[in-house]
Amino acid sequence: MLVAKELDVKNHESYHNHERVVYFEHEAAGLKAIISVHNTNLGPSLGGCRMYPYETQEQALTDVLRLSRGMTYKSALAGLPLGGGKSVILADPRKDKTQALFEAMGEAVDYMGGSYITAEDVGTAEENMLHIAKHTKYVTGLPKETLQQRVQNPVGGNPSPYTAYGVFCGLKAAVKYRLKKDSVAGLKVGVQGLGSVGYDLCRFLDEQGATLFVSDINDAVLEKAKAEFKNVHIVGLDDIYDLPVDVYAPCALGATVNDMTINRLKCSVIAGAANNQLHQKKHDQILHDKGILYAPDYVINSGGVMCVGYEFFQLTDNPFAYELNEENLKAHVSEIENVTMKIFDYADKHGLPAGEAADRLAEEIFLAPDKMKSVANS
Ligand code: NAD
Repeated sequence: MLVAKELDVKNHESYHNHERVVYFEHEAAGLKAIISVHNTNLGPSLGGCRMYPYETQEQALTDVLRLSRGMTYKSALAGLPLGGGKSVILADPRKDKTQALFEAMGEAVDYMGGSYITAEDVGTAEENMLHIAKHTKYVTGLPKETLQQRVQNPVGGNPSPYTAYGVFCGLKAAVKYRLKKDSVAGLKVGVQGLGSVGYDLCRFLDEQGATLFVSDINDAVLEKAKAEFKNVHIVGLDDIYDLPVDVYAPCALGATVNDMTINRLKCSVIAGAANNQLHQKKHDQILHDKGILYAPDYVINSGGVMCVGYEFFQLTDNPFAYELNEENLKAHVSEIENVTMKIFDYADKHGLPAGEAADRLAEEIFLAPDKMKSVANS
């Protein structure tokens, strides 16, 4: 049986006016999970379900509080009528995954009564969402074949191509703003990590004539890039930070802009897909002081949440005045370029680093939802 316990997190160091946080246990299914709803001013909260072998419940709570808060900011600037939420399952994805566990997680998601919509995240996969979907309709990121059974011409599916396209749009905005160039042609771009997002980003850059400097721990993907792209140089894992490039695009790990790397960077722009690129808040200010323009990660990598959001709306209610299809989704993702420009303008006007400017603009939107259209969609 699923047991739910509302958590009082008001005194937690990561508390930030979270609306509701619930701890769940289902002994028979081996489930221990927390769902955190940060803010629903703009709509139901959406955020992935992370599975991770946390050492303590406290660590899991800190993670879910921070991640759910981040989703509120991301969806606000993504122009989505969605709030911020997240869930964590306290278990090891390499050995603890069972159908029963995810079905119990489905019951937990459903218990939130639609205030939280779940999706895939680190440690969970499409097939796990299918098991969650047995007990709730508040789940997105389902396999394309399942969507095809429910709607004609489903939109959504694998979000990575949309994330990559959005990162490219944000990168172009930063190049325009800092280097006064309308194209990436002739620019040198260092891409760290050629996974689902990084590789597609390289393809956009290559098509438009950029020179690529790429690193990855996976040699096979580097060889593939060498064979496919016109102007590509493979660089060492640690050398990526020292390159005299125009743009550094972190697309692998978080926190690569840190005390050890920040003085090595010679780029004018940082624009990549990785989450939490800045190790600490102070690095936002340090980049600003060094004259490196940082395209805030959660803004430019929001193509993925747009994709899963559209999928959910298609299965439930369409909040937009237009049809939910691939073309309109792509147009929505391309808005990342304008939103990123607005953040840079705002940062300059208020003498702020770009990350801080993005947070303030997001707060203006989700704390006063009627402003949403004027900032995100104008
Ligand atoms: P992925 O796992 O497909 O790719 C990551 C790549 O980085 C892999 O090729 C891996 O070999 C490489 N890598 C790992 N360690 C490395 C290192 N030290 N140096 C260089 N390369 C290294 O992941 P992804 O889906 O492409 O996501 C990339 C980043 O973007 C992640 O931080 C992810 O959280 C973030 N992100 C992804 C999406 C999405 O839609 N996939 C959405 C938002 C944010």
